[in-house]
Amino acid sequence: MRRTRNAKIVATLGPASSTPELIERLFLAGVDVFRLNFSHGSADEHRARAQAIRAVEAAHGRPIAILADLQGPKLRVGTFADGAVQLAAGQPFRLQLAEAAGDAHAVTLPHPEIFAALQPGAELLLDDGKLRLVVERCDGASADTRVAVGGRLSDHKGVNVPGVALPISALTDKDRHDLATALELGADWIALSFVQRPEDVHELRALLGARAGIVTKLEKPAAVQRLEEVIDASDAVMVARGDLGVEMPAEQVPPLQKRIVRACRRRGRPVIVATQMLESMIASPVPTRAEASDVATAVYDGADAVMLSAESAAGRYPLEAVQIMNRIVGQVEADPLYRQFLDTSHSPNVPGETDIADAVCCAMRRAVALLQARAIVCFTHSGHTSLRAARERPEAPILSLTPLRPTARRLALAWGVHSLHVEEVASVEQIVALAAALARREAFAQPGDTYVAIAGMPFGKSGTTNLLRVGVA
Ligand code: PGA
Ligand code: MN
Repeated sequence: MRRTRNAKIVATLGPASSTPELIERLFLAGVDVFRLNFSHGSADEHRARAQAIRAVEAAHGRPIAILADLQGPKLRVGTFADGAVQLAAGQPFRLQLAEAAGDAHAVTLPHPEIFAALQPGAELLLDDGKLRLVVERCDGASADTRVAVGGRLSDHKGVNVPGVALPISALTDKDRHDLATALELGADWIALSFVQRPEDVHELRALLGARAGIVTKLEKPAAVQRLEEVIDASDAVMVARGDLGVEMPAEQVPPLQKRIVRACRRRGRPVIVATQMLESMIASPVPTRAEASDVATAVYDGADAVMLSAESAAGRYPLEAVQIMNRIVGQVEADPLYRQFLDTSHSPNVPGETDIADAVCCAMRRAVALLQARAIVCFTHSGHTSLRAARERPEAPILSLTPLRPTARRLALAWGVHSLHVEEVASVEQIVALAAALARREAFAQPGDTYVAIAGMPFGKSGTTNLLRVGVA
C-alpha cells in the first residue's frame, strides 16, 4: 500500500469520524496522521480512536502517526446569570477575578495571570475576536475596560490577549493529565498549544523525553517574535491559523504562514498548515474555489502536511473532505510548476551551516536529479536521516526504513517519506540488499531502475548520516 504524493494529510477525529469502519476509510482515502483533539472528548473516546487506528495500521501494514493535541491555556470568561449578555460599543465592562454570576456590567475572568500582566491600553479579544475590549484601569484582581467592538457574549467564551506575553506555562493541569493519557494510548506526536517562548517547549520536552515528538502550535504573536528559537526547540510546527488569526489581523496570517513554512523547511522541521482549509465542507460536500486554492498554496509552498479540523471531526462530509484534499495535493504535485516552486524556495546548504548529514543529503539530491533515480532509500533509527533527506525536497520518493516502530510512525508526517518498519540490519551489504528488495516490493522501482541509498555508520547511532550509495534495483 503506497501513496504517490509528497505532502501529507492530517485529519482530526471527532464525533463525526470515530467508528473503526470510517477511520479505515479515511486512512484509505489518504490520511497519514490522525489528530486527537484533547480540547474535546473523553479519555475513553480518544483511547477507542487510537485502538481503531492501530487496528487499521496492522491490517494494512503501514505505519500511521497519532498526533495528540493538548488544549493548552485557553482562557475563558465565567458564566452569566442569564447565559449571555449583549455588549454595546462604548460601554464600560469590568472583568474580575472574584467569582460572581455575570451581567451586562461585569463578568468573572478566573485567570490571575492575566490581571497580573494587563496594562491600560491592552486589548482583550472575546469569542474568537468577535468582541473587543480596551483596558482603561486594572489591578491584580480586576480590569475596567471600554467595549470597542460589541456583540453577544455568552458563558465560557474564549479570551485572547494578543499584545501581552502572559506569565503562564503552555501546560495546564488538564494538559498534564491529558499528556499521560496520550502517551498511554501511544501518541507519536504531542501538539503544544499557545506556545509563547522556547522555554514552553523545553518544559514539555522535560516531561516527555523521547517518548513522542513535539509539534509546536504557532498561534501567539509572542512565539512569532522568537520564531527561529521556537522552531529550533521543536520537532515539528503547526501554523495554527485559527487562534493566530484571532491574535493578529487576518491579513497578517498569509505572509506569516509563508515565513513559518520557509523557516521550518530551512531547518528541516516538518510543518503543518492547519485550520479552515476546507471549512465550508463542514456543511457542504464540495469546497469553495478559494479553499481548494488555499490547500494548493500550502502544497506549492512545500509544507509537509495540510490538516483538517472540524471538517473531519465534526462535519457532515469527513470522507469527502479527505478525498478532495488528496485530489488537490495530487493535482499540485502533477503540475510541472510545482517542482520549480519547490526548487526556488529551497534554502541551499551553505558552508559553515552544513554538517556531514546535510552534505550527504545535498549530494543525494543532486545524484537523484542527475541519474533520474526512482527512489531514495534511507536507513534510520531516530528518523534524523530521513528528515534531513526530506529537507532537500528531492525529486524521488524517500523510502525510509527503520527497525524502530515509533520512528516509523512519527515519520508518517514528513514530506515525501514512505515509512517502513523493518528488521535491524548489521552491515552496509544488508542495507543495500534490503534497499533494492524493498524499492521493488513497494513498487518504487522496477528491476534495472537506479536508487540512491543513504545511512549513517555506525548503525544505531543517531546523527551520523555519512554514507551515500547508488544502486540498481
Ligand atoms: P485549535 O488549534 O483547533 O486547537 O484551536 C488550531 C488553531 O488554532 O488553528
Ligand atoms: Mn488554537
